[in-house]
Amino acid sequence: MSKIVIGNQKMYMNKEDVEAFSDMLKNIDKTNKEVIVCPTFPFLEYYNGIVPVGAQDVSINDNGAYTSQVSASQLKSLNVPYCIIGHSERREYNHETDEEINIKVKKLLENDITPILCIGEKLEERQNKLTETVIKNELIGDLKDLSPASVEKIIIAYEPIWAIGTGLTPTLEEIDESMKFIKEYVTTTYNVSKVTVLYGGSVSDKNIDELNTVESIDGYLIGGASAKKDAFAYIINSQK
Ligand code: PEP
Repeated sequence: MSKIVIGNQKMYMNKEDVEAFSDMLKNIDKTNKEVIVCPTFPFLEYYNGIVPVGAQDVSINDNGAYTSQVSASQLKSLNVPYCIIGHSERREYNHETDEEINIKVKKLLENDITPILCIGEKLEERQNKLTETVIKNELIGDLKDLSPASVEKIIIAYEPIWAIGTGLTPTLEEIDESMKFIKEYVTTTYNVSKVTVLYGGSVSDKNIDELNTVESIDGYLIGGASAKKDAFAYIINSQK
């Protein structure tokens, strides 16, 4: 299966950066890999015809007086195929709950947009050996009342919160364990034959070759390094 490389460009880039990125992405070899870029809303159309894009969030509302929010149907009208939801930065800064994330999953699927669902534990939860419990509880809340056909469409990104933007990563064995736990839990609980699970958290051009040796990783969700042209190009090229 070809690996998926998703860049979560957060709020890092302005127009000039996005244009430089578009040129790099236009010219890079994308055979045998799927490259997806998630810029902020204003730049979603800049990557048209170059790579598929994802939004970084979606509203729980369909339409109406919700200043600053963007609905799933608006994303659909712009042909946006993917959307990140449940990112730890939104869970923390916007107090987003699993109940809201569950609504977002459903709104996206109703509009034929693939959710990229982020889950992961805090450092103290890992230290207290609660990683699997936390992941499981997030999945229970986020995937509530979904049919197997819907669950199968979702891309899950396992992102230990303590690894995001810190330069720290779990060991390869720990990542492999979490990937396998999520795959086993989702396939058996939701009666699906396959689930796509990405790893995210301080993926860079420095550690990607090592991470690529972990077979259970279906791809990567990359933050900081996806806003650095050469680092992101290296990561893309390393997927064979
Ligand atoms: C992210 O925010 O999704 C992420 C993985 O960030 P970083 O790669 O910077 O750790």
